[in-house]
Amino acid sequence: MSDLPFLDLKAIQQLHADSLRSAFERVLASGWYILGEEVRHFEAEYAAYCGARECVGVANGLDALVLALRALDIGPGDEVLVPGNTYIATWLAVSHVGATPVPVEPLPNTANLDPERLAAALTPRTRAVLPVHLYGQPADLEPILAFAAAHGLKVLEDAAQAHGATYGGRRLGAHGDIAAWSFYPGKNLGALGDGGAITTNDAGLADRVRLLRNYGSRRKYHNEVVGYNSRLDELQAALLRAKLPHLDAENGRRALIARRYLDGLSGAPVQPLEVSDRCASVWHLFVIRHPQRDALASELAARGIATMIHYPVPPHLQPAYAHLNLPAGALPITEALHQQVLSLPMGPTMTLEDADRVIGAIHECA
Ligand SMILES: *Cc1c(COP(=O)(O)O)cnc(C)c1O
Repeated sequence: MSDLPFLDLKAIQQLHADSLRSAFERVLASGWYILGEEVRHFEAEYAAYCGARECVGVANGLDALVLALRALDIGPGDEVLVPGNTYIATWLAVSHVGATPVPVEPLPNTANLDPERLAAALTPRTRAVLPVHLYGQPADLEPILAFAAAHGLKVLEDAAQAHGATYGGRRLGAHGDIAAWSFYPGKNLGALGDGGAITTNDAGLADRVRLLRNYGSRRKYHNEVVGYNSRLDELQAALLRAKLPHLDAENGRRALIARRYLDGLSGAPVQPLEVSDRCASVWHLFVIRHPQRDALASELAARGIATMIHYPVPPHLQPAYAHLNLPAGALPITEALHQQVLSLPMGPTMTLEDADRVIGAIHECA
């Protein structure tokens, strides 16, 4: 039997090969490659998709977070509440603006930020909460937004893994003050290179990000603030425009695979993460917990089934964050998750037969 890849990016692009080619031809013929019509149209189309008033394209997801924090005026001396378990980019963005990431433990059943733990992490320096919609499932926004409102904090959402996900029936993009997106190739809406964006209902914040992404300049050679070069380029915007109309169908296929996994694994000794009934996940990843995760991963690999670990080492135990002095044991729920999680194959080109093969192998090995 042929190997089952974790995510078949080549097959995903093949689904859209004709429209990707014509997008490329359009940009090739335009003679205009940075901040033009394609970016303008993509921004309008993605804002409409998310139900947000504004979208600003930037170079990647990390920059989207950094520019959002800068737009919120968060900097040295400030603290930002972040999930203990997330991809390290969430923390790096806070560090890059000179602020300090303060970790909050997740709910063990969903792996998303536990709103009840925010209060204990609050100090007079806290300026913002940065929930991550991890693995495609929205964080529990209602209590997070209520907490932020009660304490005068801003809310920046890291939506890099959750394109199209809904909370309380509304798509992500403008629940908090501002949301940051990544279009890294492996995300649910992926470019053929790097890309990112912010969405918001606040025209003032969008304007600040627009200024910051382009050297702090509105008018060429007039620089109002110390800005960056962080622009979504025309080519990636055109390719994303070709893929956006298919995002819901692709997320639908992911949901079908997830349903199959959930049904098929109900009797197996593995614990899939739970999805709260307040939201709809877009299944960026399908993550299970298992006490002998590494052994299970090798058994599956021996049967030609690729898995991945998101993520093997939490940010606070990375050498990059040794200066925060958070030793092993400091975040026990986060650390237990990192030792037990395993991501199964998931993607919009998977078939139910592929899912059944994974389910069968897990019943044999777990
Ligand atoms: C991918 C990702 C990012 C960073 O996006 P890049 O485009 O790779 O810079 C940030 N946060 C989370 C949760 C991500 O998954």
